[in-house]
Amino acid sequence: MSKPDIKDLALQALAETVAGLGEKPYAAIQTISWLYRQRAASFEEMTNLAQKVRQRLAQTFSIGRLTLEEERRSADGSRKFLFKLNDGQKIESVLMPHKNRLTLCVSSQVGCAMGCKFCRTASMGLVRHLTQGEILEQVLAAQRALEPGQKITNIVFMGMGEPLHNYDNVISSLKILRHPKGFGFGKKQITVSTSGLAKAIEKFGEDADVKLALSLNAASDPFRDEIMPVNKRYPLERLGRACRHYNDLTRQAITMEYVMFAGLNDRPEDVKQLCRFLSNLKAKINLIPYNEYPGSPYRRPTEAAVRRFHKSLADRHFQVNIRYSKGLDILGACGQLATGPV
Ligand code: SAH
Ligand code: SF4
Repeated sequence: MSKPDIKDLALQALAETVAGLGEKPYAAIQTISWLYRQRAASFEEMTNLAQKVRQRLAQTFSIGRLTLEEERRSADGSRKFLFKLNDGQKIESVLMPHKNRLTLCVSSQVGCAMGCKFCRTASMGLVRHLTQGEILEQVLAAQRALEPGQKITNIVFMGMGEPLHNYDNVISSLKILRHPKGFGFGKKQITVSTSGLAKAIEKFGEDADVKLALSLNAASDPFRDEIMPVNKRYPLERLGRACRHYNDLTRQAITMEYVMFAGLNDRPEDVKQLCRFLSNLKAKINLIPYNEYPGSPYRRPTEAAVRRFHKSLADRHFQVNIRYSKGLDILGACGQLATGPV
């Protein structure tokens, strides 16, 4: 039996473990600094912890690592990593440079249970949740692959999986990503994207201090029901209430992601429905032209159709952007991630 990964311990559990070894509370903070800031590969390196404590930690825990199985580089500069987990399962993370930012897109599950019709990850079904350690290790492993002087500036939970379905591990990972002695990311540097688990959105407002994105994609129930089964559980009216609650609680806007499908949600009546849904919400809109992949059921709208849709929203004073996905040529773009036979 291999030892448990210390990176799977939430902050509180780590504090209790260290206290149990007779160390002062501050030792827990020193430990997270060694793990996530200095990226120590062994307990031996943690020289400001007592020798006895280092030994006890090493007897009890491992410092787990993901195995980098494969890397693909896109012509646009993005890099897709295929990582192997300890049980042999595989996940992907994508690194995307943009101006002075370097964003890492992380996975939260192996596969996904949500079954969205347009997403390649959905065809895997849910294999399992990722642990806290596996979520955080994606960031450390990507950092190890960087050129000297490069630094990850932003994290988005938009890889494989529905982050709010793996709620506890995502929340505890966020605490370490945000902790000044951990990774130290600012609240505007992290975005969690959800397909619309309304109850979890409400709770997320209380538990996390990062940006939230919602994969809206459709503003009418019949079409959203068709492409996103989650809409049958939480239809638009219920989802809208959850967003409102989040807006009120956090005073933050929500980024509405709207994947555009040719002829299906890019028409003038879709603009009207979208405006109606957003009418009492604080929101920004990201239009994402659909990324096709082998066997994908939908088509990408023409450039002109995307621009028209964008203009209609901008004319109505919405803050709206067109987001062209990176990594299309390496199947690393939004909705293209999947590992194993699909
Ligand atoms: N499960 C979460 C996060 C991962 S998906 C969620 O659904 O929000 C990240 C984004 O990619 C979502 O906004 C989703 O709508 C979008 N997406 C999925 N498949 C896509 C595709 N084929 N082309 C473009 N965007 C896609
Ligand atoms: Fe899961 Fe998001 Fe893909 Fe839907 S779009 S299947 S929620 S990963």
